[in-house]
Amino acid sequence: ATPTALLTGSGRGAQLGILIRGPQVLEDTRTVDTIVLDKTGTVTTGKLAVTDVVLLGGLDRTRVLALAGAVEAASEHPIAQAIAAAAPGHPPVTGFSSSAGGGVRGTVEDGGRDVTVVAGRSGWLEENGVVISDEHLTALQDQQDAGSTAIWVAADGHVVGLVSLKDTVKDSSAAAITRLKELGLRPILLTGDNAAVAQRVAEQVGIAPEDVLAGILPEGKVQAIRNLQSEGATVAMAGDGVNDAAALAQADLGIAMGSGTDVAIEAADLTVMGNSLEQVAQAIELSRITLRTIK
Ligand code: ADP
Ligand code: MG
Repeated sequence: ATPTALLTGSGRGAQLGILIRGPQVLEDTRTVDTIVLDKTGTVTTGKLAVTDVVLLGGLDRTRVLALAGAVEAASEHPIAQAIAAAAPGHPPVTGFSSSAGGGVRGTVEDGGRDVTVVAGRSGWLEENGVVISDEHLTALQDQQDAGSTAIWVAADGHVVGLVSLKDTVKDSSAAAITRLKELGLRPILLTGDNAAVAQRVAEQVGIAPEDVLAGILPEGKVQAIRNLQSEGATVAMAGDGVNDAAALAQADLGIAMGSGTDVAIEAADLTVMGNSLEQVAQAIELSRITLRTIK
């Protein structure tokens, strides 16, 4: 994604690949004491890989992947891109719709017949009238316990499988979070993904277990920022997804990853073109130095 409506701030910021929306942004950057980090695509690479397909409804692996891949191909979510890539030659989709932080839905032709496919998290399937049994939930729990993000796939109202994916933490994230802590910021991990995966990522990058907020829908992300603000925190939020846009706007300082979606970049005050949290730490450091020089 290319930020269009952004102004570059200081010359040094631009050199570092940090794009700032306006002059007051430096002031906001200087005073933040809390940094909320989206997990997928911000702390992690967001380049997920499909690691497993659990079959739950009589369809084989290839068909479960083809149905899911067909619908996910129309979504720009990192999970969607991974599933579509794992299903080469998937059929086309019609009547596509999606819910940020929920999942996707569409109609796919399968063996000459139209099949309604719903893929995503439990709440999204239930909203679409798909019943998830206790046996299915056990299968989900097993995948999550193994540290995977697992996505339901349903065909014509019935669960047919789970697609499991794994993500990797960016090489730069742990050192960047150490630096943010040295700058006096409290890091908080905020994600729509499950708690087991979130805690694992937090541990890898040095975020305290009590500072992990998992299973949070996009509206919940906004509320989480508001709660911190009402506790007196000045909050920066770093994110990349459609699901992060409202939270980026709510934060005292919204930071978008340059690789993120256009809506995230448009909602942010500051965009880091190198997609690294190191640049976020640099931006905060830079704002403090710059303002000290001006004063
Ligand atoms: P994050 O906060 O980690 O960026 P999201 O809020 O984007 O995560 O997504 C939260 C959850 O919603 C995902 O873990 C997944 O279960 C579900 N989800 C979101 N988008 C999709 C999609 N395109 N396909 C399937 N599931 C999705
Ligand atoms: Mg994200």
